[in-house]
Amino acid sequence: MRDPRYDILFTPLKIGPVTAKNRFFQVPHCNGMGHAMPLAHAAMRETKAEGGWAVVSTEECEIHPSGDLTPYVEARLWDDRDIPALALMCDKVHAHGALAALELTHNGPTASNLYSREVLLAPSHQPSKYGYPSQARAMTLHDIREYRRWHREAAIRGKRAGMDIIYVYAAHDLSLAMHFLQRRRNQRSDEYGGSLENRVRLLREVLEDTRDAVGDTCAVALRFATEELLGPGGVELAEAREIVGMLAELPDLWDVNLAAWYNDSVPSRFAGEGAQEPFIDFVKKTTTKPVVGVGRFTSPDTMVSQLKRGVLDMIGCARPSIADPFLPRKIEEGRIDDIRECIGCNICVSGDMTISPIRCTQNPTMGEEWRKGWHPERIAPKRSPSRVLVVGAGPAGLEAARALGQRGYEVSLAEARKELGGRVTREARLPGLAEWARVRDWRVGQIHKLANIAVYLDSALSAQDVLDFGAEHVVLATGCHWRRDGYGRSHGFAIPGFANNPRVFTPDDLMDGRLPEGRVVVFDDDGFYYGSVAAELLRLRGCEVIHLTPDDGIAPWSLHTLDYRHIRKRMAELGIEAMVSQDIIGYDGTTLAVEDVWTHRRRELGCDAVVAVTARVPDDALYQELLRREAEWSAAGVRSLRCIGDAEAPGLIAHAVYAGHRYARELEEPASGEVAFKRHFHTAHADDLRREPQAREPS
Ligand code: ADP
Ligand code: SF4
Repeated sequence: MRDPRYDILFTPLKIGPVTAKNRFFQVPHCNGMGHAMPLAHAAMRETKAEGGWAVVSTEECEIHPSGDLTPYVEARLWDDRDIPALALMCDKVHAHGALAALELTHNGPTASNLYSREVLLAPSHQPSKYGYPSQARAMTLHDIREYRRWHREAAIRGKRAGMDIIYVYAAHDLSLAMHFLQRRRNQRSDEYGGSLENRVRLLREVLEDTRDAVGDTCAVALRFATEELLGPGGVELAEAREIVGMLAELPDLWDVNLAAWYNDSVPSRFAGEGAQEPFIDFVKKTTTKPVVGVGRFTSPDTMVSQLKRGVLDMIGCARPSIADPFLPRKIEEGRIDDIRECIGCNICVSGDMTISPIRCTQNPTMGEEWRKGWHPERIAPKRSPSRVLVVGAGPAGLEAARALGQRGYEVSLAEARKELGGRVTREARLPGLAEWARVRDWRVGQIHKLANIAVYLDSALSAQDVLDFGAEHVVLATGCHWRRDGYGRSHGFAIPGFANNPRVFTPDDLMDGRLPEGRVVVFDDDGFYYGSVAAELLRLRGCEVIHLTPDDGIAPWSLHTLDYRHIRKRMAELGIEAMVSQDIIGYDGTTLAVEDVWTHRRRELGCDAVVAVTARVPDDALYQELLRREAEWSAAGVRSLRCIGDAEAPGLIAHAVYAGHRYARELEEPASGEVAFKRHFHTAHADDLRREPQAREPS
C-alpha cells in the first residue's frame, strides 16, 4: 500500500499535448548500446517503463552525419532508415503506458565525425573539443539554415517513430544550440553572435521549428544547462536566468541541469542527493511550464520535498533509474525498503565512456535485459531442492545468496568476520565512499526477508567445514587482499625493500585502521579511485602526502567515471602533491629510490612510509584446497564448486555483484552455448551487399 505522503508523486501532469501518468521522468542517459544494439537498447528502456517511469527518454540522438559521435554509440536519426530502431523502443515503452522522449542533438565541435569524415561545424572556427587533431569550421548562414532543417526533419522522424516528447538539447556543452550561447565558442559578429539576444536566436528558432514540425502531437522539451562553473567563458547562472526569462513559455517542458557532464552526474564522493537545487530552483519561478531536474534522487521524501517546495514538477533520474528501474513502482506499492539505491559510483558512465554496453554496480541486470534475458525483479525458480553454501559475504557472496534465495534455494551464507559486506563495508568507511555501503544494505535487507537464507557471522570455514556442511552446491566468494611487494602493472617483479617492510602499508592496513604517520608516499600503480582515496584519508589524518604514479596522469581510469576532475581539485585543495611518470625502484624505510619513467633519471625522496596501491591477490586458498580434495566431494554430497568475485579475479565491486548474480542465475540451468548471450547480427547489411552488383576497378 502506498504511503499517502507520496501521493503527490503519482499525480498526472500535462506536458504540452501529452500527459505523463506520474512525476517520474527517466531523463536521457547514454548506455553504450544506442544505434548499434537497438534490440538491447529497446529492452533496457522497456524495463524502465515497466518499472513505472512516466517518461522514458533515449540518450543523445544524432540528427546528421556532420554531428557523428563515433566512437561513442548513441542514438541516430540521420535518415528514415534509422526510424525502425527507435520505433521499437517507442512500442516497448508505450506497452507499459509510459511516454517516450527523444533527445535530438547535433554536437558541432563536440562531435567527432570520425565515421562520417564530414568537417566539424561550430558557431566560430575552433579546435574540436576532445582533442582530435582537427578544427571545426565557422557555420555560414546557409549552414545554420541547413542545421535547422536537419533538426526539423529529425523531429518529424522522431514523431513517426512514435515519440511523445521531442527534446531540443542545450546542455552538457554538447550541442550547437548550447554552443551558440557560449561566448567562448560563439565569436560571431552577425545576428547569431554578440548580444545575448543574438546568441539565443538559434535556440529560439530551433524550439519554434520543432514546435511547428511536431508540436501538434508531441511535447517540445528543452534540456538546458544553467551553469557551467567556468566563469564568464561559460554559461553562468546570471545569464541563464536571463535566457530562461527570454524563452520561458516556448518549450512545453524545461529539463534543467549543470554542464558539463562531470558537473551533472557528480560521483557520490563529491556531491550528495539534490546537489543541483541551488542552480536550478529559479526556473520554476520564471516559467509556468513544467520543470524536471536531476539530483540522484533515491529518497521519496526528498522527491516529495522537491515538488512541495516548488523546485521541480517532475523527478528526473538517470542513475537512480539504472540502479533500480522499478523505483517508481516500489514507491507506489509502499515497498520503500526494496528500493535499490544508486551508490553514485558512476560505473554506469564507464560503459558509455569505454564504448561498451551499460553496466551498473547495484543492478547487475542493467544492459542484460535482452542479451541474457535478465530482469531486475524476476528470476527463474530453482530447478531442484538443492542446498547451496555461499562462503564469504562481500558483494559477490551477498548477491549470490540473495538471488539464490529469490530462486527458492535453501541457502547458507557463512562469513568469517563479525560484519557483513566484505570490501564494501570496509571501503565505505573511507572518505567520501559512505554511500557505497548501499550495495551491502540493500542485499542484507532483502536477505533478511527471505526465510530460506541462513546467515552465519564469525564463521571462517575450512575445507573440512565445507565438506562436512552437506550442501550440494558450494560457491566461494572469499575475496582478495592487496599486495605488499609492489608487484603490479609497472613491475613484473617485487620492488626491492617492500616485502616485510613495516613502513610499507597496503589499502587493507588502512581499512583495518593501521595508519602510517609523517611524510607518506602513496604509490598508485592501480590508476583508479583507491590511490586518491588513500591519499585523502592520510592527508585528513595530518600526514604530508605525495601521490606518486608511473602513469602520466593521476587516476587515469577515473576519467571514465567522471571522477577525474573532482579528484584533481580535491587533491589540490588538500595540498596533496602529485608526482606523475615516476616509478619506485627501492625503499629502505626512510629513503625512496625514484626513477623517471621516460628519462630513467634517478633521485632519492625521504619518506616515513609508502602505501602500495598496486595489485591484489585472490584469497582462494580454500578453493585450491577443495580442488585438491575433489575425490572427497561425492561422499560429502558436493555436486559443484565454484569460486567467484574477487576470489576468482579481483576487480570492481560491480564485477563482484555481477559474478554473484550470474552464479545464481546459472545454477542448474542448461548452458547457453559458447557465447553466453545474444548478439546483434547485421546480416541484413550483408544480404544487401551480396545482392549489390560488385563494382570492379578497371584492371
Ligand atoms: P567480493 O568482492 O568478491 O565479494 P570481498 O573481499 O568483499 O569479496 O568479500 C569476501 C568475504 O569473504 C570477506 O568478508 C571475508 O571475510 C570472507 N571470507 C574469506 N574467507 C572466508 C572463509 N574461509 N570463510 C568464511 N568467510 C570468508
Ligand atoms: Fe548508480 Fe553506480 Fe549504478 Fe551508476 S553504476 S546507476 S552510479 S550504482
